[in-house]
Amino acid sequence: MKQDFYVVLGVQHDASETDIKKAYRKLAMECHPDRNNGDKAAEEKFKLVTEAYEVLRDPEKRAAYDRYGMAGVRGQGAPAGFSSTHFDLSEALMVFMRDFGLGGGGAFSGFDNLFGGGQRRERRRGHDVKVGLKLTLAEVATGTTKTVRIKSLEACTVCGGTGAKQGTQPVQCGTCGGSGELRHQAQSLFGQFLTVSPCPTCGGEGTVVRDPCERCGGEGRVKGEKTIQIDVPAGVADHHYLTLRGQGVPGPRNGPPGDLIAVLDIKEDPRFERHGDDLVYDLGITFTQAALGADVQVPTPYGQAKLRVESGTQTGMAYRLRNKGLPRLGEAGHGDLHVRVHVWTPNKLTAEQRKLLEKLGEIEDPVPEEPGGSNFWDTVRRALGLEEEHEPRPRRRRGGEE
Ligand SMILES: [Zn+2]
Ligand SMILES: [Zn+2]
Repeated sequence: MKQDFYVVLGVQHDASETDIKKAYRKLAMECHPDRNNGDKAAEEKFKLVTEAYEVLRDPEKRAAYDRYGMAGVRGQGAPAGFSSTHFDLSEALMVFMRDFGLGGGGAFSGFDNLFGGGQRRERRRGHDVKVGLKLTLAEVATGTTKTVRIKSLEACTVCGGTGAKQGTQPVQCGTCGGSGELRHQAQSLFGQFLTVSPCPTCGGEGTVVRDPCERCGGEGRVKGEKTIQIDVPAGVADHHYLTLRGQGVPGPRNGPPGDLIAVLDIKEDPRFERHGDDLVYDLGITFTQAALGADVQVPTPYGQAKLRVESGTQTGMAYRLRNKGLPRLGEAGHGDLHVRVHVWTPNKLTAEQRKLLEKLGEIEDPVPEEPGGSNFWDTVRRALGLEEEHEPRPRRRRGGEE
C-alpha cells in the first residue's frame, strides 16, 4: 500500500510538529476504535494515521521519509527481524495514549479490556542502543552481514534478573498495592474521567525489592558486552537505519529490552557518483578512441565490465550500462551505471605524434555548425544515434522492463 503520510494526515509538507500533532489528534479522535464500535475501516484508518504520525513527528524519521519514502522508514524487503513501523492495533493505541494521555475509563473505557482487566502492571523497558555502521559501496551492492560489539548491560546471572537477593523474591509494592498504577479523576476533552499513571514507587512493576542482590544492587542487570550480527540488505543508502527489536539494553529487573538501532554510514567510492540506485562513472578516452571507436573496460560495483565506445563519441555523452547500478532496496532489479565520457586532449606530443597530427590537421573537417547555434551536442548525439541523456538522474522503474 503506497500512502503519502502527509496526505494521510492532511498536512502540508512543511507542516510544523505542532500542526502534525494537532492534525493527528483530530483524526485519531474520529477513528478511534472505542468510538466506532470496532468498525474495521475505522480501525485501519486509526492504525494508518498513527503510523503516519509516528514517522512525521520524529525529525529523523521524517527526514528519512522525505528522502526515501517508505523505504526510508519501513526497511521494506529487509530480512526478518528488522522492524517496520507498521503498527498493530495495540501499538497504535499505545502511541495515542502516550502522547495524549487518555487512560482507562470515561470515553475510552475500552482500554481496560485491551490491557487485560485494568491491571497495567508493566516492566520498565531498557534503553535503545544506537550504533554507527560503516559500509563500503561494494557492501551496499551485495548486501552484507556486519558484526558489532556493543558495551551494554546484561541480565544479572546471580539473581536471574529479578534484583532480589538469592533466596528472596521481590514483594508487592505498598504504594499501589501491586497494580503498578495510580488512578486519578481528571478533566479531559470528553468530560471527567479517570487517568491512570504508573506507580512512582515501583515504576509500574507492582513489586519492589526488599533485599537487593549483592551483585547488581537490585537493578537486575550488570555491565556487559555483546556481539551482534546485523544483516544489511542490498541497496541501502547513507543515514538509513535498521532497527533490531529487542537487541538493545535489557530493562531493569527483567523488563523488556530496548532496540538496537544501526545508523548506516556509507563510505563514498571515489570512482562513482551515486544518484539513488544509479551510479555515474567518468571515463576518459583518447581522441583517437573517440574518433575511431574502441572497446574499453569500466569498473562497476560487481567488477569490470566491457563498454563499446562508438566512433564519433563526444565529450559529455553518456553510455548506460543497464542493471549495473545498485540493487533497488526492497524491490527487484538494479539501477543503471551511466558512463560519462571525457575526451582527453594530449598535452605533450612526441615529434612523431606532432607530425601525424599536423598531417591530420591539413585534411580534417571543421566542427559542423548548427543553424541557430542551439543544442549543438543534442544534434550530434541524434546524428550518431547514441543515448540522448546527458545528466543521468535516478529513475524509478518497476518490474517488467527489459
Ligand atoms: Zn542480581
Ligand atoms: Zn507500586
